[in-house]
Amino acid sequence: MIRSDTNSFIINGAGISGLTTALALAAKEYKITVFEKAEGFEMLGAGLQLSPNAMHVLNSLGLGRWITEAASTPQSIEIANGITGKKLTSLPLGERVKATFGAPYAVIHRADLQNILFNACKNDPNIEIHFSSEVVEMAPHANGVTTMIRQDQDVNELQAKGLIVADGVWSNLRTEVIGLEPPESSGKIAWRALIPVQDKEQENTTCVWFGPKSHVVSYPVRGGEYQNYVVITDGPNASSNKTITIDAEELKSRFDGWNGDFLSIFEKQARWTGWPLFETPKVKRMAYGPVAIIGDAAHAMLPFAAQGAAMAIEDAAVLAKQIDIHENAHDAFAAFEKERIPRVSKVLKTARANGRIYHLSGIRSEFRDLGMWLTPARLLSARQNWIYGWRP
Ligand SMILES: Cc1cc2nc3c(=O)[nH]c(=O)nc-3n(C[C@H](O)[C@H](O)[C@H](O)COP(=O)(O)OP(=O)(O)OC[C@H]3O[C@@H](n4cnc5c(N)ncnc54)[C@H](O)[C@@H]3O)c2cc1C
Repeated sequence: MIRSDTNSFIINGAGISGLTTALALAAKEYKITVFEKAEGFEMLGAGLQLSPNAMHVLNSLGLGRWITEAASTPQSIEIANGITGKKLTSLPLGERVKATFGAPYAVIHRADLQNILFNACKNDPNIEIHFSSEVVEMAPHANGVTTMIRQDQDVNELQAKGLIVADGVWSNLRTEVIGLEPPESSGKIAWRALIPVQDKEQENTTCVWFGPKSHVVSYPVRGGEYQNYVVITDGPNASSNKTITIDAEELKSRFDGWNGDFLSIFEKQARWTGWPLFETPKVKRMAYGPVAIIGDAAHAMLPFAAQGAAMAIEDAAVLAKQIDIHENAHDAFAAFEKERIPRVSKVLKTARANGRIYHLSGIRSEFRDLGMWLTPARLLSARQNWIYGWRP
């Protein structure tokens, strides 16, 4: 039985954006019904970096304790040239970030974060979650929105004060119902692996290796038991919207000429899973009357600033704030859109620009390396202040 309440909000999609928004609205005593197309959570995926801007929101929802238990807080980001192996800089994280921004820089397994959010939702009487169900149609009107919900074989009408579209990069509501443009292929694939760690202390850093058209990031997850690797390369198959797998030997062959120490990662896992990377070309809309669009459905971005989920989490906090301020969803969502588009657009462009810098080759990469080597770490770190220092 689905709750019917014209004063409630519907959220389509129980990913990071949908579940965080459900919690943020429920904390303000709104009734929330979440529809998730999948039968249950697929506990796959890999790591996520959670910067202080996201951690502030999660802490404010009372989740800090659970996240601290499941996450690691790396002491630094070590950046090196993947070809020469030369270390370019070491950016402090750990206590330094916590002291500066009032929240830590954490790294966590995506499934652990999803579990923490889901358990918090399950324990909240204001939230209902329905699996194997989705919003298939919606009609905005002056008092809210009429939706058609498909649940298994049945389709039923449901009224709500507002609808929040949180169904990820392939959102049908975004493209087919609201008519916004689909995401574009970046031509890049993110290959991911989780590799058991021998010495937990030694691995408590985030590492980044730059190289021509590729870069690699690693950090600990599951309390330091595993090292999460993300290897970015060009396609083929970069325009597929499904994950793909590749043998380690074949992936390694794309890193011909890279430093030997780095190449040893391909001996640690036989098959790697690849996520073709898509992005929203331009964030034009995040509101459509009583309908808000959040997370990857609104602003899918390249993971090169590690901010996609962080922006989704920020969306949740701002949406809850605006709903609390305004009488009706139309006004709340218009204010939400006005507040969010400039920030998410700037972060999206930053992620794209980071990719260009990470993937330089030849003389331009030598200038990049020299610049990073000569610039004090505190100045390089300060470039992130506008992202990490955000508060709702
Ligand atoms: C390689 C890689 C590394 C990344 N690293 C980071 C990082 O370090 N830090 C960071 O902040 N971000 C990172 N991101 C980005 C982050 O993963 C996404 O931005 C984030 O997951 C978006 O959350 P979301 O809830 O909007 O979408 P999703 O997580 O995709 O959730 C959407 C949900 O909607 C459901 N759904 C889909 N269609 C429907 C439908 N029709 N009806 C109902 N439900 C539906 C899906 O099943 C899913 O549960 C990374 C991304 C990649 C690819």
